[in-house]
Amino acid sequence: MLDNIDLVVLKITNRCNLNCQYCYEHEGKRPLGQDMSQKLFRKTVDLILMTTKKHSVNLLFHGGEPTLLSLDWFRDSVNYVHKKAEVIGKKISFSIQTNLIDISDDKLDFFLKERFSIGGSLDNPEWLDNSFRPK
Ligand code: SF4
Repeated sequence: MLDNIDLVVLKITNRCNLNCQYCYEHEGKRPLGQDMSQKLFRKTVDLILMTTKKHSVNLLFHGGEPTLLSLDWFRDSVNYVHKKAEVIGKKISFSIQTNLIDISDDKLDFFLKERFSIGGSLDNPEWLDNSFRPK
């Protein structure tokens, strides 16, 4: 089943710095405030890279708001992936889906250095988006 995987969406946190009324994280499937541990991240990467037959794999960091995790978390994760990919002989790229509202300069520098594709959604005028985000 994992043979053909070339894109992995990693839900690394369900925390967010916004509070949209329509948020899928509010459906009560799991308690809010959970981050993915390095242990689980590494186990997931190992499983995917050892199983897929695809040469190139994209890891997409998703949430919640993934940029709430620390720079150290991203550094540890990306370094682990680079080492693992070299041993196994795979090409790994990274993406991140963010609401863009509060990315620190050091994290942005890191994402750019590691050639992350950065996705953000700008769907509506500010007044309409914010009407779904009670303070
Ligand atoms: S920005 Fe996304 S993750 Fe955050 S509250 Fe809104 S819908 Fe949920």
